[in-house]
Parts: sequence; structure tokens; C-alpha cells
Amino acid sequence: MPIELPSHCEVLVVGAGPAGSAAAATLARAGRSVLLVDQHPLGRDKVCGDGLIPDAHAALARMGMLDAVMARATRMDHVTFTGPRGGQLAVAGQLAVLPRRELDALLNEHAQSLGARFMTPARFEAPLVDTAGRVIGARLKGAEGSFEVRADWVLLATGANAASLVAAGVCERHTPSGVALRGYVQAPHLAEQGRGLEVVWSRALRPGYGWIFPAPGGIFNIGVGVADSHNDLGGKGRKKDYNLRELFEAFVCVYEPAARLMREGRLLGELKGAPLRCTLAGARWSRPGLLVIGEAAGSTYSLTGEGIGKALETGLLAADAVLAGEGAEERYERELVALRPKFELYQKANRINAHPWLAELLIWRGRRSPRLLQRMEGVLSETVNPGNLVSVRGLTRMLFT
Ligand SMILES: Cc1cc2nc3c(=O)[nH]c(=O)nc-3n(C[C@H](O)[C@H](O)[C@H](O)COP(=O)(O)OP(=O)(O)OC[C@H]3O[C@@H](n4cnc5c(N)ncnc54)[C@H](O)[C@@H]3O)c2cc1C
Repeated sequence: MPIELPSHCEVLVVGAGPAGSAAAATLARAGRSVLLVDQHPLGRDKVCGDGLIPDAHAALARMGMLDAVMARATRMDHVTFTGPRGGQLAVAGQLAVLPRRELDALLNEHAQSLGARFMTPARFEAPLVDTAGRVIGARLKGAEGSFEVRADWVLLATGANAASLVAAGVCERHTPSGVALRGYVQAPHLAEQGRGLEVVWSRALRPGYGWIFPAPGGIFNIGVGVADSHNDLGGKGRKKDYNLRELFEAFVCVYEPAARLMREGRLLGELKGAPLRCTLAGARWSRPGLLVIGEAAGSTYSLTGEGIGKALETGLLAADAVLAGEGAEERYERELVALRPKFELYQKANRINAHPWLAELLIWRGRRSPRLLQRMEGVLSETVNPGNLVSVRGLTRMLFT
């Protein structure tokens, strides 16, 4: 139903993915007038692995949305890591899979139920800026042309595409940090009880990885990713020539469960690729009157390409900063600085993708050392940092203690 266009709102949230909806819900719950806009209608498809790892569970619980999401999702209690020589290790954790079409619609509806108004299609074109340089709203493009909305705050939650960052004057790197591709395969007879998330490393997938995530209804999300496709060339951000379709074919060749899925299942739609922005890099996090949240701020983890949890978290942090009033930009930036070490350690751990033998080593050792396995579970649930697991010191300790 078309909403009446407000000429002013307290907070304009651009982008109705997890980051935008989390922020909009929190602000609306606190009584702020919130306009949430997206270029696409509710129920849009987002290319993603759809995996919800423990940080997403924690953020959803904080929003009061965990039960609603889990009622629709496939629940799982472990992820199985497979190394290049076939070694396997199951790491326990609170995990789930829910296609983004559903997850994002649930979060959007939640924000609306708390009072946020949602408008679509509305594409962010440019910020409105006052003479002192403060962002005071945005020019958006709707079905009937461009219009302006004034706002005390603009939250930019436009995901991994750089165009909005450029338009908002906060882009520091046009290229993404990674790329990934996924497809949905229907194969109910393979959806056996107790199956977990599967993440696979192989020489053939270097410097990336493959995954199979069981979604509800006997459907599997299968894909490949290169989390560092643009970062490894002396910071110049040039693109290496990764052909994700070839990588996907290689995954199907080297991993029998992937081959079986493709052989016996039915591919629904096409394989689709999308960029990733990782490690809290590539954009300024704020400018006066505007906060950049979610993947637009680089909130996706390197190594695994997981980003739903941290997108939600940055949305919640930005909402809290706005609610705290004066100095929201500084407060929000301080919160992201506090998260940075975690992201940097995932960036370091990303060397596993380039050197998959490290995965084999970790798997081999993890199978023999309950203490190491416990630490890996800690990494997954974010109670232990991952960096020293793959540092020279960490490896030496792992092998000899
Ligand atoms: C193939 C692949 C697999 C992945 N697998 C996983 C996984 O299993 N688990 C996980 O946690 N993460 C995964 N990720 C990462 C995850 O998808 C992102 O971290 C997450 O979507 C970021 O959420 P967000 O809200 O910041 O942005 P998005 O979800 O991208 O939402 C941004 C929204 O902004 C809108 N928008 C964009 N530009 C404009 C504009 N100019 N005007 C108006 N609206 C605009 C878009 O339409 C979109 O709705 C994967 C990513 C890829 C590419």
C-alpha cells in the first residue's frame, strides 16, 4: 500500500537489509519517526549463503526476533569443515539457515510493526547537505521521479554496492573485498536429520572455499566464495580474474556431496554472484548527520564471508548512538573501533583460504585435541578470537603442546 510521503522524519534509513531493518526497528521502538526505504520491494532476493551463525542469533535475540526467525529456519548444531585431503571436523555452535527473502521480510515487517514506515521503490541518489556540510536528508528516486526527504539523521545501509557510498561522499574504495556465488538446489531426499552446515577447502578452490547449507523444505544453498578477491594486490584494490562459475564447477568436481546434490537435485533458478565488503574497510563510517551501517561499512567477516550478524549488530549500534543524541557519529565510530580487532583477526585467518593445507592441519589437530576443538567452538561463538589459531606462534603451539 503506498504510504503518504513525509517531508521530514527523524531518521531516514536507506536500505532494508538486516542492518537497515535492525536500526529502523530499534529507533521506532524508542518512539522515533523512522522512514525505511529500499530500491526493491519487500521480499526481494539477496544473493547470500543464508547461514545464521551465533553472532546473528545473539543480535536477533537482542531484537526480540530470534524465536520468530527460528520458527521458520532450519536449525543446526554444528558446522562440518572439510580440508583439502578430506579430513573432517564438526564444530558445535548455534546455527541456522533461512533464505534471505524470508529473513529480510520478517525483519522489515518487525520494524514496520514497531512504527517504522517503509517505502519502496525509493533509490538513494544523493544526500541533502546544509551550508555547514551536515547531511540533512536525501534525494530519492521513486516510481514517479525524484523527491526529497529531510531527516535529522540518515543511516546508509545499502550493502556491498559502492554506488551509494560514492553518492554519499563516504566511499574510500570502489571495489569490493570479495565475491561469492550461490544457487538453490531442491533435493528433499538428501535433507537427512542431523546434517550441519558444510564448509569445504580444497587446492582447486584456492583462494576460496565452498559451502552447502541446508535450508528449509529440502532445499540446499550451495556456493563458492573468494573472501579476498580484491585485497591482495598491495592495497591497490585491482580485481584478480576469479571466475566464480569455474570455481563452482571445481567445487562440484572435488567434493562428492556437492556432486551428488547437483546430480540428484533440481537447480532452482540460476547461480547468482554478488560482491562482499569485509573487515570494516572501504568506506568512512560517518560524516555529520550520516552513519554508514552494515556491509556498506564493511561489516562482513573475511575468511567466511559471514555478515548477517554483524550487519544487524552495526544497525543496533547506530540506532543506540542516534538515541544517545549529540555526538552520535563519534559514539558510533568508537563502537566500530572496538569491533575492529575481531575483524582484523578474521582477515588474518583468511590465509586459510589461500593456503588450504592450514585447514587440513587445524582439522587434523582439532580431531585429536579437545582443547583446540573447544577453542574453535569459541571462535564460532565469538568467545575466542581466531587470529592466533593461524599465526606462526599459534600453529607452533598447536602442534607441539
Ligand atoms: C554469495 C554470498 C553468500 C553469503 N553468505 C552469507 C551467509 O551464509 N551468512 C552470512 O551471515 N552472511 C553471508 N553473506 C554476507 C551477507 O549477505 C551480508 O553481510 C549482508 O547481506 C549485509 O547486510 P546489509 O543489511 O548490510 O546489506 P544488504 O543485505 O545487502 O541490504 C542492502 C539493502 O540496500 C538496498 N539498496 C542498495 N542500494 C540502494 C539504493 N541506492 N537506494 C535504496 N536502497 C538500496 C538493497 O536493495 C538491499 O535491500 C554472503 C554474501 C554473499 C554475496
